[in-house]
Amino acid sequence: MSVQKFLYDSYLREHTSYVESFHIINNLCAIALAENIFRPSGGGQPRDHGTVIINKISYKVEDIIKIKGVTNLILDSSALVSLYEFYGKEANSILDWERRYCLMRYHTGGHILMSAARQTVLGYEPQGMEIEDDLSSCKILFTSEEEFTEKNCSSLLDIALNAIDGNASIEGKKYPSLDAAKEEHIDEFRINSNLNLKGKVRIIIIDNYDANPCSGTHVKSLGEVGSLTIESFSYESIERIASIKFKLECITS
Ligand SMILES: [Zn+2]
Repeated sequence: MSVQKFLYDSYLREHTSYVESFHIINNLCAIALAENIFRPSGGGQPRDHGTVIINKISYKVEDIIKIKGVTNLILDSSALVSLYEFYGKEANSILDWERRYCLMRYHTGGHILMSAARQTVLGYEPQGMEIEDDLSSCKILFTSEEEFTEKNCSSLLDIALNAIDGNASIEGKKYPSLDAAKEEHIDEFRINSNLNLKGKVRIIIIDNYDANPCSGTHVKSLGEVGSLTIESFSYESIERIASIKFKLECITS
């Protein structure tokens, strides 16, 4: 079974592995690598971009699709003619690192804003985040029992910016169950109640601020999130859903 390297080392930009399986999906060549560094889209985080080099030929990764637990890299159409030569071959994966790093910063920025919301919003419950595919902004969503106002938004931002200034460390830790993780992080734990997690869980812990089950990619320290500004916020009073749209400064290709 393919190992998803990005879960253990989100800073791995390039990696050599081999083609474990191949087939055709939507008339394009799909390969699964024994060790994969490309993250598919999920949890509001768009997919990685990059290339795979096989037999000295570079192929663009056009999509990343997980089927029955296997992460398939969909290669550009030029790979089709060589499809049957790929099995067992060495494959060098190269991430579009600027995009990945920006995604990691946005995603981690979403975590710390959610943590600030947990600390300040009455009836807070996380409802996910959505990073724009062009990396122009990210939106976090959560419930709020009372109207979410500009004042709420401002105090929430202060908490998040102070935490970013403090440069807290971030680590992923595995627990045998959700209950075990909750017990250890009772004061800072948060979870989207729509998630039905069973068995082992990976918890992303931001020092004393936040503990949340997540399979996204994160930076190692909060300072790496950098300059964070809020573009807009809204509150939908019937569903009691608040959303905050924020922006980071990213260099993207
Ligand atoms: Zn995350």
